[in-house]
Amino acid sequence: MKHVLSKISYGIYSVGSKMDHPVGCIANSVMQITSDPSTVAISINHNNYTNEIIKKTGQFSVSILSEKVDPSIIGTFGYQSSRKVDKYKNVETEELAGFPLLKNSCGGFVCRVVATTETSTHTIFIGEVIAQQDGNSEIPMTYRYYQEVLKGKSPQNAPTYVPEESSDQTQSKKSVWRCKVCGYTIEADTLPEDFVCPVCGQPVSAFVKIEV
Ligand code: FE
Repeated sequence: MKHVLSKISYGIYSVGSKMDHPVGCIANSVMQITSDPSTVAISINHNNYTNEIIKKTGQFSVSILSEKVDPSIIGTFGYQSSRKVDKYKNVETEELAGFPLLKNSCGGFVCRVVATTETSTHTIFIGEVIAQQDGNSEIPMTYRYYQEVLKGKSPQNAPTYVPEESSDQTQSKKSVWRCKVCGYTIEADTLPEDFVCPVCGQPVSAFVKIEV
């Protein structure tokens, strides 16, 4: 049975910060806490490099991603580490109050951290909005859209991660391909050479065949 918490609604955001270079990750847990002053809370895994940099700088940015976001942005920001790659290298970015925002998003804002709470796996940062910028008029992506339309999965560092249950033995055998980067799966005997992961933009070489 699916956990009832999976029915809680979320969005898809890119959270950034910056010391000598910009860092960032995908977050689904961003919520407004108060209106005046405007404060928000975000939840970031301890393992994310972005968590470390937010603690050092005391500031973070949030870009609100739309349903039309380039899937490779979710692939880069959600499934790679800023310790290893410059995630902003091939992404159109602009700075707001010195912090990175993604262009072609629904908009974004920059926060000064006013409180933090540690949980066993995640830090909850509460931030006061110190700058904001409107973006395009596309529909902000919800987590349900990400899961049901893009067939995206929660990466292991996400607050909503649920380990996959073992397959149902009564199902007939099918060929299933899994994206090694984001976990997206698709049923097919073969994948065309020009197939691109609809979630993270990886080429067909990133797919491995699994049996379900
Ligand atoms: Fe993928």
